[in-house]
Amino acid sequence: MNRIDEISANLEKVNEQIKLAAEKANRSTGEITLIAVTKTFPVSDIEILYSLGIREFGENRDQEASGKVSLLPDDVKWHFQGQIQSNKLKSITSWASYIHSVDQLKYAQIISQHSGGIEKPIFIQVSLDKPPQSRSGVNPSDLIELAGAISELPGISLQGLMAVAPVDSPAEEAFAELVAIRSDFLRTFPAAKSLSIGMSGDYQIAIKYGATHIRIGSSILGIRSPIA
Ligand SMILES: *Cc1c(COP(=O)(O)O)cnc(C)c1O
Repeated sequence: MNRIDEISANLEKVNEQIKLAAEKANRSTGEITLIAVTKTFPVSDIEILYSLGIREFGENRDQEASGKVSLLPDDVKWHFQGQIQSNKLKSITSWASYIHSVDQLKYAQIISQHSGGIEKPIFIQVSLDKPPQSRSGVNPSDLIELAGAISELPGISLQGLMAVAPVDSPAEEAFAELVAIRSDFLRTFPAAKSLSIGMSGDYQIAIKYGATHIRIGSSILGIRSPIA
């Protein structure tokens, strides 16, 4: 099979699964944005996805993404979802239409400084890890305080929450916990309704738990080389 047929078939399968999961959850597929995660994959794959109608792409690294952005048409929306480094954030703010992985006030402050007068849509990443596991994301108990401080900043538009399921416990449990965290959060921040959860291994579950943005790489593009 050539690459176009392969990607096209994978995309069709994913869209079918999204449709099924949405139907099961009594939700409309129109509420769910598919972000094709293209990290480590070449521009030629992104061009194939573009030709198939995809306009939302997710990247994790500033340097890699910066090189790709200029090669794709302007109507593409780029999502940054990787771990943030302060010294890359000015650049990330320049190409990313959405930043999903904000988990510290200092990052939001840098984005605010460089947003150029246009509100930059961001998500706050919430950690669903249980100690001693600890990856990116704000601790749920610190979420409201962080969101309060972020929402005071000019040049930032808080969209909602983002999370990655833990590696060592079921996604279902973690997403159910996040639903509770989110309903509490929405009482204070009712406009920040977006929920960026769901990857190749768990997007059907994520849709059940209210995902509005799902970030899918390997189910569409295949296995990534290990450098990611
Ligand atoms: C790589 C990555 C994805 C996509 O992962 P797949 O399992 O390939 O679908 C989604 N979200 C984040 C934060 C990622 O780093």
